Amino acid sequence: MDLSIEQLDRVGGTLLATAAGDALGAGYEFEPPVPEDQPVAMIGGGLGPFAPGEWTDDTAMAIAIAEIAATGADLRSEQALDAIVDRWYWWARNAKDIGVQTRNVLTAAHAAGLSAKSARREAEALHRRTGLTAGNGSLMRTAPVALAHLDDEDALVEAARTISELTHFDPEAGDACVLWCAAIRHAVLTGELDVRVGLRHIPGGRRELWVTRIDAAEQNRPPAFASKNGWVVAALQAAWSAIATTPVPDDDPTAGVFRADHLRLALEAAVRGGHDTDTVAAIAGGLLGAAYGASAVPWQWRQVLKGWPGLNARLLVNLAETIVGEPKPPRHRNAELNRPRRPVRHPHDDGVWLGGLAALRNHPTSVDLPDEVDVAISLCRVGDDEIRDGTAHLDLRIDDGLPHLQYALLNAVRAVEQLRADGQTVYLHCEHAVDRTPAVAALYGARRHGLPVQQALDDVIGALPGAELTESLRSALERLSR
Ligand SMILES: [Mg+2]
Repeated sequence: MDLSIEQLDRVGGTLLATAAGDALGAGYEFEPPVPEDQPVAMIGGGLGPFAPGEWTDDTAMAIAIAEIAATGADLRSEQALDAIVDRWYWWARNAKDIGVQTRNVLTAAHAAGLSAKSARREAEALHRRTGLTAGNGSLMRTAPVALAHLDDEDALVEAARTISELTHFDPEAGDACVLWCAAIRHAVLTGELDVRVGLRHIPGGRRELWVTRIDAAEQNRPPAFASKNGWVVAALQAAWSAIATTPVPDDDPTAGVFRADHLRLALEAAVRGGHDTDTVAAIAGGLLGAAYGASAVPWQWRQVLKGWPGLNARLLVNLAETIVGEPKPPRHRNAELNRPRRPVRHPHDDGVWLGGLAALRNHPTSVDLPDEVDVAISLCRVGDDEIRDGTAHLDLRIDDGLPHLQYALLNAVRAVEQLRADGQTVYLHCEHAVDRTPAVAALYGARRHGLPVQQALDDVIGALPGAELTESLRSALERLSR
């Protein structure tokens, strides 16, 4: 499937914001709702206890699905389902935290010979014994299923229900996964938030009930669902309530407020809803990220996000892109290697270096990264083998053609500002330092010294010969500096 730059950004956002919601909620799990005027942050702790920024079982189980999807497997095939169950089981053996229902099913399935078939059988047996198998544990991990079947909604519906049933026999859990995956697919393709697009895939007998539940979610704030959001229905309602009842800000570049801030505000609302905070926010994050993209995830969150099996924000986005057949080999990479640009100091701040990718890479033709650099900020896609060992790294990819270009530029500038305030020396780079690097550098310089942005840009271009901004970057800078 040929995806546009913005669609690809939303593919990455689906996994990245799942993890962001999960890690944001981790420190508040099973606590009462947090009042609206109190901040929430990635404080860590919770059941793990987890490190600040560390994601929990929700994202880990989603990653296991994503890894199998990234091999190109059809998630409906028994072979892919076996692989998913196997990956879950080996993750669960050392997991800091795992849902009760999922643990019971995986343990029993392993005793009976681990496979998708034995997992389904044990999930059903648990349902027959207890009648209580509509926990939120299959909904929390469902987002990558949508990425695996972006091109085929019917296949997606089948895969979402099938993967849910590996641990959750109750059809309500399958319904929720179908609804959420259909909404994620729709959001990735169109940028729209609409949880009702999947209703036509819900069997007639239950469809009206779901309509009522979605209406109720839109009439209440997330704390209304706190007492029972371990139930898949209330978890979906809480997540949708956080999204639908949190106002979407109007773009106001001079005030530094953007529509894209809705992703952060709605995730904070999901966490403030209380009780199963990480799961509700992980669920909400899958859909919010699918609508707003990875570029709408605040830099502070990307900097600290991490978790099983040793991934960070950049690697999570790469994993999501691999599911949809990216990354294609970046263009111009060879040209960059053949004429690497030496890092130069920012004309308005000695503690910021500007340059291209070559200074970051381990490669025979690389140029040196100044020793004093503490952290590198990448504004372009960076591959696993392209970061010199031991370099602290912050991935803030900006692509021309992003719908939230102004937000993304300001997000990068805010990162530089805070890192400098913390006394860090920063290396700001993209591939060639001809467009994105000078744009961020100019806005940084203009804000730091109160300069007209054109003057700041002229100074930066003076230091980076050959730099030339695209029209969209130029107009985004103008709007941001008015
Ligand atoms: Mg969790």
